[in-house]
Amino acid sequence: MKKHLNFITLLFFCFSALQAQSWDWGGPMDPLQTKFKVLQYRLDLEILPDKQMIQGSNIIVFEAKEKLDTLRLQLIDEYEVEKVLMEGKELEFFHQNDVLDILPVDCSCNEVEVVYLGKTPIAQNPPWSGGFTWEKDQLGNHWMGLSSQGEGAKIFMPALDHPSSEPSQGVELTFTVPKPYFVAANGRLMSEKFEGDKAIYHWLSDYPINNYNVNFTVGIFHEQEMLFESSSGQQIPMIVYVLQENKAKAPALLSVLEESARTHEKYFGPYPFPEDKIAVVETPYLGMEHQTINAYGNNFQFVPLGDTQYDWLLHHELGHEWFGNKISVGDWADMWIHEGLTAYGDWLFYWEHGGEDAYFEKVAAESRHIPHDRPVVSSPNSTEKEAYHPEIYSKGAMLIHSLRGILGDEVFFPMLKAFVADERFGYQNRVNTQDFTEFVKNYADRDLDAFFDFYLYTTQLPELVMKKKGKKGWSVSLKGINFTLPVEVNTEAGIQKIELGEKPVLIKGMEEPEVDPKAWLMLERK
Ligand SMILES: [Zn+2]
Repeated sequence: MKKHLNFITLLFFCFSALQAQSWDWGGPMDPLQTKFKVLQYRLDLEILPDKQMIQGSNIIVFEAKEKLDTLRLQLIDEYEVEKVLMEGKELEFFHQNDVLDILPVDCSCNEVEVVYLGKTPIAQNPPWSGGFTWEKDQLGNHWMGLSSQGEGAKIFMPALDHPSSEPSQGVELTFTVPKPYFVAANGRLMSEKFEGDKAIYHWLSDYPINNYNVNFTVGIFHEQEMLFESSSGQQIPMIVYVLQENKAKAPALLSVLEESARTHEKYFGPYPFPEDKIAVVETPYLGMEHQTINAYGNNFQFVPLGDTQYDWLLHHELGHEWFGNKISVGDWADMWIHEGLTAYGDWLFYWEHGGEDAYFEKVAAESRHIPHDRPVVSSPNSTEKEAYHPEIYSKGAMLIHSLRGILGDEVFFPMLKAFVADERFGYQNRVNTQDFTEFVKNYADRDLDAFFDFYLYTTQLPELVMKKKGKKGWSVSLKGINFTLPVEVNTEAGIQKIELGEKPVLIKGMEEPEVDPKAWLMLERK
């Protein structure tokens, strides 16, 4: 289980390394970009592995909320924009400082085509400091991966590059590569064509998608496929694409993927993208939650856990299909909803397959590493780099664990599924922290404001104070909070749930009571 522990540590170190990277995204929305909505991206790229270049076009289908004088997109300066077309006519444009301004847009058109090309930016430390990763497999074939969570889509295509903007009708992705290369991407593979020495793959997804989830991986892959029977009753294609040298490991990877999907469905509800696929592709970097084509670079390091095999990376990235891809935040300040809930889904794998002891050991191990030096929720309008820090994972998950302890399993688990299923939050809609906390409060019919405010917006911890009161027993309180928490206390009379706060509570008995023995709560225990 060490491996998984390393995940948070690894993220922390890599987070530090991120500071050298120049591209970021999110933050306050550019006023020019509030004037239109993107409905679809139709990306058509030729990928030239020998030159590490891409060339082609992106058609941005949009809906203007008012007359546009300038259509503002983002595209990094590394690419050269050859032309911009609207209804066959070339438009004037300015491309500088990673911004592409197109003008004048004097028609009721709703499509603009940007033709561009260039050498791809190389990832410095993928996936944390992203870009293109050009590798070779053991047979000497090209193997290219793309990661852009920290940079946005502008590092590979012109886009309205903000987390609040997802193309509501999805993406159409066409890739041309030299034969016999394959391109694994989001959605469904609609066609593959071979023309001369080139192969052309056409992918389509109708689901809204985060910009950084739009993704493509080039290589020569062995493909193994099955039909996954979802808890919804639907049969969903489940596919793994692995390098040829790892062909023998494909059946085991597929089976680990199936177990992970089944476990996620049990706690989070049916897989959210049944019309597309559940898939992973082997990538030359650790991993990322690319919608319906998760990046997998964990070298098939499966570990036994109870009755099954576990791959922490695969399970984690797959969990993002629910939290991150279906339920998406519009402001990176709330990124803990992606990472904290998904990390909690990792802990649930321990619960489901390792049992109670494995789960609580996991929780204890993870909670020891929470630094408690930054609030889980960042300031409004944060950029990705401002909001991304280890506590959105570990403290976010620990908060969900505490919530479970407070609400009890009979309320907590149905609540989690109900949140994912609620139409106000998925697909076309973005969520924020308040959406989540209000939902939980209403669902559980409990006032949890003070609890959420304390743990999400401050770095403090309630201090557990215990004093012997002679023969009467023990006085117990939680210093530093202006509310109470229901806490399990193991006394001579057995385990009781007691509301604890600043005001000391007397617990009878000579033996020192054990407060919160299972560590449901984040407390400072001296
Ligand atoms: Zn994650």
